[in-house]
Amino acid sequence: MNAIYLDHNATTPVDPRVLEAMLPYLRERFGNASSKSHSFGWAGNEAVEAARAHVALLLGARPREIVFTSGATEANNIAILGLFPPGGQPPEKSHIVTEAIEHHAVLDTVHELERRGARVTLLRPDARGRISAADVKAAITPATRVVSIMAAQNELGTVNPIAEIGKVCHEAGVLFHTDAAQAAGKIPLDVEKMGIDLLALSGHKFYAPKGIGALYVRGRTPRVDPSPIQFGGGQERGIRPGTLNVPGIAGLGEACRIAREDLASESLRLAAIRDRLELRITRSLPGVSVNGDPAHRLPGTSSLSFEGVDATSVIVSMPDVAISTGSACTTGNAEPSYVLRGIGLPDRLANATLRFSVGRFTTEEEVDRAAGRVIETVEQVRSRMAVARG
Ligand SMILES: *Cc1c(COP(=O)(O)O)cnc(C)c1O
Repeated sequence: MNAIYLDHNATTPVDPRVLEAMLPYLRERFGNASSKSHSFGWAGNEAVEAARAHVALLLGARPREIVFTSGATEANNIAILGLFPPGGQPPEKSHIVTEAIEHHAVLDTVHELERRGARVTLLRPDARGRISAADVKAAITPATRVVSIMAAQNELGTVNPIAEIGKVCHEAGVLFHTDAAQAAGKIPLDVEKMGIDLLALSGHKFYAPKGIGALYVRGRTPRVDPSPIQFGGGQERGIRPGTLNVPGIAGLGEACRIAREDLASESLRLAAIRDRLELRITRSLPGVSVNGDPAHRLPGTSSLSFEGVDATSVIVSMPDVAISTGSACTTGNAEPSYVLRGIGLPDRLANATLRFSVGRFTTEEEVDRAAGRVIETVEQVRSRMAVARG
């Protein structure tokens, strides 16, 4: 596998320091963190509590406000479903405000609640994929229970005005949940300053392994008390019962520690190599447009539309560069991405869009090679398509 990996928004490799932090808990310190009667259990529990402190620090939260989950999908499900326990929510408080280009982990959860009788307002973002606090404010009614707006969009990299949205929600006395799977570890987050009540994050999006994540649950003013959606041994205050994934949690803690330490310098470096990739491509090829919000964008993400090409053909012709289309394509039948449609891109451009996402271990040399491959491949695909048109 010699391909250049530029798909960090899909998942990241595990940082070697994270792996080192995990190994003792896969080997000699394998104890169940809930075992109170011996040192194996105590060692597991210590690792969990140390990691909880690191996750809390990254978010400006208190350790007891962190609940470990299997990832952001589960954290989003607990956050949203937990506010609507079956039979628990009076109809006069059953309205949800969210947006059309959320991740499916939020959209499908909200749609399930709609089937169960909740009312949902789906806000439309602007052409750069951004939601305005004014639109959120206008959508809130006396019946609104929660607003769920993602911190950063996974396909576009657009960063939402989270602090402004948090302020609007709190002024209206409405809970604010944010899916921060793409934001955590990449841009500064502070649940106090940003007025966030619930926040989902995912380890594998910032150099911890797959299958570990966390949910922040505000502990006071106001105290948020999501009802459990599954039942078991009472771990994680009963909000997410089940034997804790101690190695994964230790890894997530280390990933948060590294992210907090290096966030400022790493985001500058990522933005620089992302910009380098983008400039090389846009200067060499005509008909390329940049999607997302240049003023509010994740440092490592670039979404580019190439006039006159089919994005899937580019990807298939270039197996040595690992990137993704905006679209969730099933073999031979590429439905344009709902995100790109959601910002108003015509299908012609949505089907011509590639997402590049650089990461911690991406080098300048890799970016240059990838840019060269993209340029020649797009030229080839364009000339093939011109021949086909006759
Ligand atoms: C990856 C991602 C998720 C899902 O996270 P998992 O930990 O893989 O379940 C949710 N939301 C966004 C925005 C994501 O990028």
